[in-house]
Amino acid sequence: RAVAELARSRQSEQDGWLAPDAAGGLLGAYGVPLTTGTVVSGVDDALAAADRLGYPVVIKAADPTVVHKTDRGLVRVGLATPESVRGAVAEMLTELGDGPVGHDALLVQPLIAGGGVELAFGVVRDPSFGPLVMVAAGGVAIDVWADRVFLMPPFNRGEASRALRRLRIWPLLAGHRGSAPADVHGLEELLVALGRLSTDVPELAELDLNPVIALPAGTPSSIACVDIKLRLA
Ligand code: ADP
Ligand code: MG
Repeated sequence: RAVAELARSRQSEQDGWLAPDAAGGLLGAYGVPLTTGTVVSGVDDALAAADRLGYPVVIKAADPTVVHKTDRGLVRVGLATPESVRGAVAEMLTELGDGPVGHDALLVQPLIAGGGVELAFGVVRDPSFGPLVMVAAGGVAIDVWADRVFLMPPFNRGEASRALRRLRIWPLLAGHRGSAPADVHGLEELLVALGRLSTDVPELAELDLNPVIALPAGTPSSIACVDIKLRLA
């Protein structure tokens, strides 16, 4: 199944970077908890998608080669009305205007609300060690936190569990001062899934899931990967 997804994915890449739906197909086959999204081309599409997903929505650039969308005003969070969707889409299409975009320029997602902890998960390939799986304190300030742990596959659930507990932000996941604990089991499973993916799919050159929003355990989508960057070699 993953191999079939990979073959399908290859058809929609740009310098190896997969479009959001293709990347989602491959990761979905490994049980990665992705936030649903709809790729759209313009205002009408975006309004239809927002209606279907339910307000508030988030709209962002779908172009996988835009590395820091936020820096260019290409992530709009918490759009609560059709009017705000119209405005955001118009501004973002203007900002994207110079690039080689056109259709499928934007991604509409539901807003993940509830003030979870932003983590980052990733796979990198080291020339001598091979694939390494990373978990970190995430979000746009990931480099400021500089709080990351690497795991060398193959590794099991126990090792994944210890890696999470080595993060400085671990107390926030465990439940800090009365805040509800995150879905730690789900986070461990996500690490194990990425370990499997990294060894099963040697074509996977780079994977960056940032942020992965960790909400309290027991909420319907307690783990939400809202930004996927995936490059095939
Ligand atoms: P980039 O990393 O390219 O700047 P992201 O898609 O990671 O773009 O969005 C930047 C930030 O916006 C995230 O770290 C998160 O705080 C917020 N964000 C993005 N998408 C969502 C979403 N669907 N729900 C809630 N917050 C989001
Ligand atoms: Mg991001």
